[in-house]
Amino acid sequence: MSNHVVIIGAGQAAVQLIDTLRRKGHGDAITLIGDEAHLPYQRPPLSKKYLAGAMERDRLLIRHAAYFAEHGVTTRLARRVIEIEPREQRLKLDDGQSVRYDSLVLATGSRARELNTPGVQLAGIHSLRNIADVEQLRARALPGARLLVIGGGYIGLETAATCRQLGLTVTVLELADRVMNRVVCEPVSRFFEAEHARHGVRILTGAKLEAFIGDTSGNVRAARCADGSEHAADFVVVGVGVLAEDRLAAACGLDCANGIVVDENCRSSDPRIWAIGDCCNQLSVHYNRRVRLESVDNAFEQGTTAALAILGTPVAHDKVPWFWSDQYDIKLIVVGLSQDHDQVVLRGDPATRAFSACYLRSGELIAIDTINNARDQMAARKLIAAHARPNLAQLANAEAALRDCASLS
Ligand code: FAD
Repeated sequence: MSNHVVIIGAGQAAVQLIDTLRRKGHGDAITLIGDEAHLPYQRPPLSKKYLAGAMERDRLLIRHAAYFAEHGVTTRLARRVIEIEPREQRLKLDDGQSVRYDSLVLATGSRARELNTPGVQLAGIHSLRNIADVEQLRARALPGARLLVIGGGYIGLETAATCRQLGLTVTVLELADRVMNRVVCEPVSRFFEAEHARHGVRILTGAKLEAFIGDTSGNVRAARCADGSEHAADFVVVGVGVLAEDRLAAACGLDCANGIVVDENCRSSDPRIWAIGDCCNQLSVHYNRRVRLESVDNAFEQGTTAALAILGTPVAHDKVPWFWSDQYDIKLIVVGLSQDHDQVVLRGDPATRAFSACYLRSGELIAIDTINNARDQMAARKLIAAHARPNLAQLANAEAALRDCASLS
């Protein structure tokens, strides 16, 4: 019986799925449908080298056109899927055509969360999610221009760092009392705030945005905060998080709750439909709870997991997740999930610009942030995967190898 695999969303997770399907012997048809005009590309450089103009667009592509031709993948780009009909195992495209599937994979990613702040419709207010966004931004990111970033998360801070290095004047408005507050502990937030200050980026925390103010031609010229302060801007980047792109799935009746609900094999509530990458909410075997992750590693692991399940050789996804962020010359690598921690142990002195923050829950190591300290990273993955309970004195001793902080059974 043939198994035509149709993938909606031509991004990071889709490529990994295709790669695994073909490497593991899937000989039937594969169709990849994406609403952007581009073949699947890497998003991480969008806020880093690509925004800086230090990377050609072609180099963003994860695979070139020849790869898809050689691997027998039919690509339908600049085409949006507007409806899934699960009973008929059929999709409707925005050009009126239909596509039938035997197995369907949703790899629709996420979309930028939008503000409903007065004035948000003014020209010059951008988000940063895709190539088209960056191309608009690059035209504005000229030396001397004033950039206002709303949101001190990864995307906002990476954009701030890149634009500052291009010679822009940069201000970041963050609602919380510290940057990246949802993902890192206070010492790591403070370290990054100090680094941005050292490079001349102004970060204002506790800043409650009230309105954008326009000029007579309808361009943004400032933002006003609840305390009455005004912050001048030639353009604005809004980086206030993303939402799972699960609207198609919800409309056709799949279980969704902060993403498309899938099991440890990435299978949705319909046995013929899988979901992978940013758009799905998966049961984490390691943490024994549901998680929705936005990272290249996650897209990669879930692409592999769904492919194996489609091929009838399922292997539950139980890897410890990881993520990275580059700001200036600092590489932050986050291994594991630190939510629910009850203790933080620092390894090394932030003043040296190379240290780690270890997160524990009831004595178990659950996550580590490494800052310019990649040597802790591999050991961290092993220890976290093994639910290790490290010796705290040894953990705090940056001279001791991380792998020796706990015995693994
Ligand atoms: P995507 O790669 O986003 O692909 C989804 C695709 O589906 C999109 O092209 C979308 O337009 C398309 N689509 C959606 N709906 C439809 C539809 N109805 N019909 C057709 N097509 C549709 N991760 C890291 O680990 N490290 C980083 O440093 C990092 N930096 C980042 C910087 C930026 C600026 C951004 C935006 C993301 C960054 N990420 C980073 C996150 C990482 O890129 C994502 O987690 C990853 O791309 C998710 O892959 P995906 O395949 O799930 O979705």
